[in-house]
Amino acid sequence: MRLANKIALVTGAARGIGQAIAEEFARQGATVIVTDVDEKAGQQVARDIGDSAHFWALDVGLESAWAAISDRVRDDFGRLDILVNNAGITGFMSHPGPFDPEHFNLDSWHAVHRVNLDGVALGCKYAIGLMKQSPAASIVNISSRSGMVGIPAAAAYASSKAAVRNHTKSVALYCAEKGYPIRCNSIHPGAILTPIWEAMLGEGEARQQAIAAIAADIPLQHMGTPQDVAFAALYLASDESNYVTGT
Ligand code: NDP
Repeated sequence: MRLANKIALVTGAARGIGQAIAEEFARQGATVIVTDVDEKAGQQVARDIGDSAHFWALDVGLESAWAAISDRVRDDFGRLDILVNNAGITGFMSHPGPFDPEHFNLDSWHAVHRVNLDGVALGCKYAIGLMKQSPAASIVNISSRSGMVGIPAAAAYASSKAAVRNHTKSVALYCAEKGYPIRCNSIHPGAILTPIWEAMLGEGEARQQAIAAIAADIPLQHMGTPQDVAFAALYLASDESNYVTGT
C-alpha cells in the first residue's frame, strides 16, 4: 500500500502504459481518476479496477477540459496528490505525414505538440493549484527516450518529448522556489510494446520481424512492458522519492 490515502489522476489511461499505471496505483491503495479521450475503453478500465477508480473524459490538449476536471477534483476530493501526464501520440495514425524535418506537415506538427506538450503543460498548470492542499504531491510526466535523441522519422514526437523533459525541470524548480509541497519528474521509457506501435509493426510475419528488429537495437534485447514503466511511476509518485525532483 505504497500510495495509501493518495488521490491520483492519470491521463491517457484507457490502454497501454497509462492503464498499467492506473491499475498499479489502485493496487497500491490510491484512489485513481482514470482519464482519456476514449470514453468506452476508459470506463472499462475503471470498472475493472473497481470502487477505487473513476473514469472522467479528458482531452489533455483542451484548457477548458482541464479547468472543468480541476473543479471536479476540488469538489469531490478537495485536493490532488498525484498527476501522471501520460497521454501522448506519435501522430502516425491520426494525422497526415510525413514527420521528417525536411517535409513535415505543419498542422500535424502542431497536433502532436498540442497533445504531448500543451497537454503536459496544462496538466502541470492545473495540478499545481490542486496540489497545494496536499501534504506531499508528485507530478510524473511521461516523456520518452525520443526526448533525448534525434528521431528523423518522428521529428514532432521527439521535439515534443524533449520539451516535456525541460518543462518538468521548470515546474520542479518553480514549485521548490515557491515552497509548494509538489515534486515533478519525468520518465523516459525505451520501446514498450503497446498499441502506439501498431502503425509501425504491420501484421502477421512482418509484425514478428518488426518486433525482432526493434528488439535487436535494444541493449536488453527485448521490448519493455507497460508494467515496467508503472513501477518507475510508482516510485516517483510515492513518498519514497520525496527528495527527488526535476529529474
Ligand atoms: P497508447 O497509444 O497505447 O495509449 C495512449 C492513450 O492516450 C490512448 O488511450 C489514447 O486514446 C490516449 N490519448 C490520445 N490523445 C489523447 C488526448 N488528447 N487526451 C487524452 N488522451 C489521449 O500509448 P502508450 O501507452 O504506448 O504511451 C503512453 C505514453 O508513453 C505516451 O506519452 C507515449 O509517448 C509514451 N511513451 C511510449 C513508449 C512506447 O514505446 N510505448 C516509449 C516512450 C514513451 P486514443 O486511442 O483514443 O487515441
